[in-house]
Amino acid sequence: MNEIYARDMLVGFCKMLYDRQLTVSAGGNMSMMIGDSEILITPSGRNKGLLEPEDLVLIGTDGNVLSGGKPSIETGMHLALYNLNYETKAIVHCHPLYCTSIATKNKNLKTDLTPEGVLLLGKVPMIPYHTPGSKELVDAVAANHESNAMLMARHGAITQGRTIEEAYNRMEELEFQAKLQIVTGRAKSLPWEEVEKLTRM
Ligand SMILES: [Zn+2]
Repeated sequence: MNEIYARDMLVGFCKMLYDRQLTVSAGGNMSMMIGDSEILITPSGRNKGLLEPEDLVLIGTDGNVLSGGKPSIETGMHLALYNLNYETKAIVHCHPLYCTSIATKNKNLKTDLTPEGVLLLGKVPMIPYHTPGSKELVDAVAANHESNAMLMARHGAITQGRTIEEAYNRMEELEFQAKLQIVTGRAKSLPWEEVEKLTRM
């Protein structure tokens, strides 16, 4: 993928994330791979609704900055997932209200209330709390690298995908499922036979 095209695309998804209130102020970070060894990532401390294509930082899969300013403090988390999952080409991390509410209460997020949750997300683990940007947080996320989506205790959520659209859709779906769970209260999951059938699809 051409770098100019990728910059436009990633900034577009950052704006969507901000406009849909999946992230607020300077919270969250997003990245996508260009080719096999370069990654575009959001800069540290900037509002995701105001980013311009040239603000994105280009780094190598080893974390070295190739061009641009200071990459997100959560870069380590992104690198760990890219290096462990060959199929992962994009990552979204942010602090959506309902996901963060469940993550603050340390509750289990059900993704089997509706078929879409099962199809897009699968099981969503809760990553224990660690300081943002710490090696402990990177290790905890890496230990759950096979999950499409994870909640992070007292922090937020992270999703990955084969494209930026897939990673973004998983975040939007994750927040929808979190909201659904809170709005419906004690609603029951789909019957297990149906969950099995959907999981095989
Ligand atoms: Zn965060």
